Amino acid sequence: MSIIRTTPIPCPACGGAVDFPLVHSVNADRRPDLREDILSTVFQRQACPNCGTEFRVAPEFNYLDLGRRQWIAAWPADRMGDWSAVAERARQAFEQAFGGGAPASARELGKGLRCRLTFGWAALREKVFIAGAGLDDVTVELAKMALIRDSRQPPLGSAALRLLAIQDARLVFGWQDLQDESATELIEVDAQLLAEIEAEGEWAELRQRLSSEMFVDVLRLFLPTPELQS
Ligand SMILES: [Zn+2]
Repeated sequence: MSIIRTTPIPCPACGGAVDFPLVHSVNADRRPDLREDILSTVFQRQACPNCGTEFRVAPEFNYLDLGRRQWIAAWPADRMGDWSAVAERARQAFEQAFGGGAPASARELGKGLRCRLTFGWAALREKVFIAGAGLDDVTVELAKMALIRDSRQPPLGSAALRLLAIQDARLVFGWQDLQDESATELIEVDAQLLAEIEAEGEWAELRQRLSSEMFVDVLRLFLPTPELQS
């Protein structure tokens, strides 16, 4: 079920109260329009009725798309440094909805779901886009690693490489600022790269490392090692 509750929140520009339709969960099977809004980057974006400033509320909700076998815990970008603790909360949320404590029918549905954890709108959009394109998101992350290795510059601490589009059998990646999510540099590669990566055994270890957590993102490999989990 999609849950959206109108809640007064302060406008980040003028501080005035804005009645905002704040999302708490998205069911993309029943509300495909919300999925479209995420893809077109208008979801949870609104103009303040007092000062006219357009703003977007950071994501903090669970996203379910049974048709595409996708469950995502979407969190604000600024929580990424704390990803290990957030991942634990995400695991608990999934367990509650589809795990041992849930009805048998829900447990059955949960078996086929790919669980992911994202930070920021751009990361969520990317996961939704990848599933819609019928791609394997771990392979896409490995492709990013190949691009990062090939580039002369090391990955920026302030930007993330994201798959933005597929055009004429070419993958369009962009470096996106982690704060305002604006794309700076675009990189296009032949979509064949994904098939090559899937055929090459040398990626197996990295694939395992990326898949071992819900937070499937090459960014994780560049973050400081988290504290030991309790
Ligand atoms: Zn305002």
